[in-house]
Amino acid sequence: MIEILSPTELARAKETGGLVADILQTMKSRSTAGTNLFDIDDWARAMILEAGAVSCYVDYEPSFGRGPFGHYICTSVNDAVLHGMPRDQALADGDLVSLDLAVSLGGVVADSAISFVVGDSPEPESVAMITATERALAAGIAAAGPGARIGDLSHAIGEVLTAAGYPVNTEFGGHGVGSTMHQEPHVSNAGRPGRGYTLRPGLLLALEPWVMADTAELVTDADGWTLRSATGCRTAHSEHTIAITPDGAEILTLPTVQG
Ligand code: MG
Ligand code: MG
Repeated sequence: MIEILSPTELARAKETGGLVADILQTMKSRSTAGTNLFDIDDWARAMILEAGAVSCYVDYEPSFGRGPFGHYICTSVNDAVLHGMPRDQALADGDLVSLDLAVSLGGVVADSAISFVVGDSPEPESVAMITATERALAAGIAAAGPGARIGDLSHAIGEVLTAAGYPVNTEFGGHGVGSTMHQEPHVSNAGRPGRGYTLRPGLLLALEPWVMADTAELVTDADGWTLRSATGCRTAHSEHTIAITPDGAEILTLPTVQG
């Protein structure tokens, strides 16, 4: 199903997006050497409940996961890249952390992910990988607007990732957003321009480029959720929810607080 939001719903989506972004930035600022992934989950839960929002993750039970997720935020560290289930693990200086969060507020969902390195001396390779996903995300957003096709966005994203030297996995990618987290249309992280669904004002899309340093192959953890690189290499992930507007696209998941 593809939902087109009313102006009232779009205004709510902006509130949801701001909340998601602020929670992510707060989690980033609190993530230092020694921080446990369970702490991040607890902090996220507290902020979600405080805002009167509803987690999209706790009861989530899709075909690609095992049973309800049971946590409030995805914490993917180093070789973990997507759906990282919080576990009893303390962060270390230099760890590459990806946090992914989706909540519903006023009946409208927003979904965003950020990647960062713990501490003050990140490996250049980690910074380059994070930057590549951020640049790909910006390229996808720049390609979005009324009349653009999903393939235009996929192509723009994929070109940046490929030019940066990363293999692209097309199993998991972006998606429509609305009253629920994962909707049509799927937005692959590679594609051909001029193909696919034509964007209209009121459509919400989550764009989410992610890469692994030297492979496109994923393996699933024993927890049934966490997806890791098959080679054990590092990974990165960046995601924004955007709204298609009459003039182009607006990013809904920009933070108002500093990370
Ligand atoms: Mg997400
Ligand atoms: Mg998403």
